[in-house]
Amino acid sequence: MEQPSVNIGMVGHVDHGKSTLTYALTGKKTDVHSEEIKRGISIKLGYADTPIYKCFDENGNEFYSNKKLNEDCILSRVISIVDAPGHETLMATMLAGSSIMNGAILVIAANEKCPQPQTREHLTALEIMGIKEIIVVQNKIDLVTRERAMESYREIKEFLKGSIAENAPIIPVSAYHNTNIDMVLYAIENIIKTPEFRESDDPLMYIARSFDVNKPGTSIKNLKGGVLGGSLIKGELKIGDEIEIVPGIQMTRGNKTVWQNINTEIVSLMAGSSSYDKIRPGGLAAVGTKLDPFLTKSDSLTGRVLGRPGKVPEAAFSLTMESHLLKRVVGFDENIKVEPLKTNENIMLTVGTANTVGVITSSRDNSIEVSLKYPVAASPGDRVAIGRRVMNRWRLIGYGSIIS
Ligand code: GDP
Repeated sequence: MEQPSVNIGMVGHVDHGKSTLTYALTGKKTDVHSEEIKRGISIKLGYADTPIYKCFDENGNEFYSNKKLNEDCILSRVISIVDAPGHETLMATMLAGSSIMNGAILVIAANEKCPQPQTREHLTALEIMGIKEIIVVQNKIDLVTRERAMESYREIKEFLKGSIAENAPIIPVSAYHNTNIDMVLYAIENIIKTPEFRESDDPLMYIARSFDVNKPGTSIKNLKGGVLGGSLIKGELKIGDEIEIVPGIQMTRGNKTVWQNINTEIVSLMAGSSSYDKIRPGGLAAVGTKLDPFLTKSDSLTGRVLGRPGKVPEAAFSLTMESHLLKRVVGFDENIKVEPLKTNENIMLTVGTANTVGVITSSRDNSIEVSLKYPVAASPGDRVAIGRRVMNRWRLIGYGSIIS
């Protein structure tokens, strides 16, 4: 299959039908844990890829399908659906995942009052991460009366008012019964654009997972090098490319702790379940390397960035950011106001696929300086989600734009 060219997030409250809709759209389930090692990758978020074909009915009207129904169907593109976990505690995973989404489908079940807690949280997360191309799916319409469907539509419309998704289409669907799935495909094709790709860009990949893919007992000569899973954000990667991983690993030199970038070579490339000689952005990729698998086992390199040696943003131990705070803390039914950020306060930052904590060393107007516990590779202009501990949990309170 052709490599996917766009990543679409599947977000929304738990049980509202994200997995069922993903299955209806792609014919695949995103729960691939047992397959994980075999495939070499499944970001902690699930994913499923599908081609989308433009087809024509007997009257010559075009429609979209995930199957090549006849010879006249033309491949439009291959999409990758990224399934975000709906549980509140995994908000950090959702935020890290949204750094690789080009657009999103927000699933809202018609048989429950809107908004449910994670419906609100996920919409805010999309807003925070600057994801503008959004489709709203009003799911489970088979379970409700016409009156309730209309009422649910009004609740959704009211909820979206003033948000980034205010003008998003709201498509009534029964994912379970495959009803109106063609309209969702139509909306995907018309709303969520394929990001521009330039071969000449320096490649940059966010690492979401890392693996040791060897079975216990494998002989040394058959050992495979460490595998890095994630999403290429720009440029292309080829087998044989030299790469650098930033920040690399923490080491002790004398009595000092230092971070050492890791350099290695690409020996294999996979996107979805196919192998490639080179890959471009889109979908989730698995990069096979010459690294000692000990370095990559159990997600030990999650949150790093890889690219050409010398062309990856340097590891930053402190960040200066312009902060943009939400009015209320995400994740509560009651209105808890977001207080200004204070010097000496501990905050959590999500930068690309990295989650790190830091302490604010200076806070003036909207400008903050944060000293990080673990360094991150980031560039000026990057967006960073900011979390604060409220009632014993990290809650999303805003974002920062990196100044330096
Ligand atoms: P997720 O947690 O958002 O991924 O939700 P799931 O896709 O796992 O769906 C939760 C439950 O709702 C499952 O039992 C599904 O079979 C059911 N479900 C999902 N979509 C529909 C639908 O359109 N109609 C009906 N009747 N049930 C649905």
